[in-house]
Amino acid sequence: MVEELFRQDAYLKQADVTVASVEERGVRLDRSIFYPTGGGQPGDHGLLRWDGGEARVVDTIKADGGDILHVLAPDSAKPDVGTKVHAELDWQRRYLHMRMHTALHVMSAVIKGSVTGGQVGADKSRLDFSLEGDVPTKEWVTEEINKLLADDRPVSAQWITDEELAARPELVKTMSVRPPIGAGRIRLLSIDGIDLQACGGTHVARTAEIGRVECTKIENKGKMNRRFVISLA
Ligand SMILES: [Zn+2]
Repeated sequence: MVEELFRQDAYLKQADVTVASVEERGVRLDRSIFYPTGGGQPGDHGLLRWDGGEARVVDTIKADGGDILHVLAPDSAKPDVGTKVHAELDWQRRYLHMRMHTALHVMSAVIKGSVTGGQVGADKSRLDFSLEGDVPTKEWVTEEINKLLADDRPVSAQWITDEELAARPELVKTMSVRPPIGAGRIRLLSIDGIDLQACGGTHVARTAEIGRVECTKIENKGKMNRRFVISLA
């Protein structure tokens, strides 16, 4: 099973790792800095380099056995099992995902409603809410998010047990991306004084890194369901 280096340090941009197995679409590694698609956040892209070759990682997905499959460009060479490879993230893309993902946490604290879905993207990101009362305007959402971001709050991870999570259901905001229960412990993402919820994604260390956010669109997705789209300014 892969050691998930990005869980300890989301800012790791490169690492020397070893190829654990090779399959038709790509490779598994003993340790990985690549985040696999999940929880509304896309899988990472990047590069693997080794003595005598290199390959582009065009997607990263979860594989069986708690593993990660690094999907390689179809025409690229593949390293052999046991090869030491130097892994490099497409950091520009990942960092946009980290800023966007953290911004969505802040938006979930601003808009009063239950989150029914969400998607992180480098250009735009969204959260869907089931709203009880009036629908806020784009301008209001933009202003409220930026007010909170201006405070430059620290962002950190905490761990609780499955039992503690079961006793505090409010920590699971996005029912559509429930955290995995049964592993014994659950990762919580805390934005000091703003948000605390179960999340396994990658985030920035302080909210000031996000910069300014704009709510660009509110779409009607049903009677009470509204989709709020944001971009980074
Ligand atoms: Zn998160």
